[in-house]
Amino acid sequence: MDLNLGNVSADRSTGGSDEERVKVLILGSGPAGLSAALYAARADLNPVVLSGMELGGQVSLTYTVENYPGFPDGVGGMELVDLFRKQAEKFGARVEYDSAEKVDFSTRPFRVQSVNGKGYIADSVIITTGARSVHLDVPGENEFTGRGVSYCATCDGWFFKDKDVIVVGGGDSALEEGLFLTRYADSVTIVHRRDELRAGPVLIDRAQTNPKMKFEWNSVISEISGNGSVQSVRLKDTRTGKDRVMPVDGVFIFIGHTPNTERFKGQLDMDERGYLKVDQLMRTNIPGVFAAGEVADPHYRQVITSAGMGAAAAMQANHFLDTLSSA
Ligand SMILES: Cc1cc2nc3c(=O)[nH]c(=O)nc-3n(C[C@H](O)[C@H](O)[C@H](O)COP(=O)(O)OP(=O)(O)OC[C@H]3O[C@@H](n4cnc5c(N)ncnc54)[C@H](O)[C@@H]3O)c2cc1C
Repeated sequence: MDLNLGNVSADRSTGGSDEERVKVLILGSGPAGLSAALYAARADLNPVVLSGMELGGQVSLTYTVENYPGFPDGVGGMELVDLFRKQAEKFGARVEYDSAEKVDFSTRPFRVQSVNGKGYIADSVIITTGARSVHLDVPGENEFTGRGVSYCATCDGWFFKDKDVIVVGGGDSALEEGLFLTRYADSVTIVHRRDELRAGPVLIDRAQTNPKMKFEWNSVISEISGNGSVQSVRLKDTRTGKDRVMPVDGVFIFIGHTPNTERFKGQLDMDERGYLKVDQLMRTNIPGVFAAGEVADPHYRQVITSAGMGAAAAMQANHFLDTLSSA
């Protein structure tokens, strides 16, 4: 593709020695970023992917993914994103083990400075920097993530058939996910630091009338223990400070979800929680800057939905570049 870069300011039209000119720069190497990379590569756009600190994204933290189509026996999270990466690279995508530090979307082409000190001058950018679940930060949480500790009921509920699980949190997501878990688990105990839930009245009513739901008020988890997988938690009473051990098979944590959008503040439109605002075509408020996956999706937060958004963003970036070159 021969790009018409007529509106490019002179000092941005060529990069210096530590700068590289690219047609499509993708920020993030999770399912959304690598799917965007595959589609952009197959459109002959030679995309460059900045992997960020977490190559493969959140799904690389999980042992087994059982809800991604095409793998009837499930697939390891790391294995799945490794296959995504290989497929994108096969068609010409390049993955750089580096992160975006500063972005400047004020003029096109856009400028992105990496943590390793490299500058990218990009005709289009696809942001797929994902999101992170807020952690409890207690001993055992990291050790047992994927072995009983989870941040996603849709992903992991199935593994807790006839088991006893805890849900941490008192908001809408904690109750929604807790109610979802009652389909599988024998019991779902909501552990909440206060004696009142923050969720909406309908959800509270559903939760309180569900025979599988129990409540531990004024309680926090101070430790998660087990042997290979979760076996118990230590619960501390927030009023008395007393603690006790509660046997449990799973701990689902829903105390918040934060999109990785700090460095885009002031440049891209976001909702009140910091998720990037995109239209149906994955376009942000800046023409040529697209966003896909969890960074722009507070609702579905799945591999398949993130991958789909990534593919759509790359198709739109291709369309955008085509329009530029024929202008
Ligand atoms: C433990 C766990 C288990 C899960 N299990 C399942 C499951 O079984 N099934 C399912 O469908 N979903 C599951 N999910 C959810 C799924 O992983 C996410 O929905 C999906 O990974 C989102 O993809 P994404 O590409 O939008 O973002 P992410 O996966 O969050 O990837 C974000 C990427 O952006 C990069 N990044 C961040 N900042 C920068 C920066 N400044 N510069 C460059 N790159 C940056 C990160 O390094 C990362 O590569 C699970 C999530 C977790 C945490």
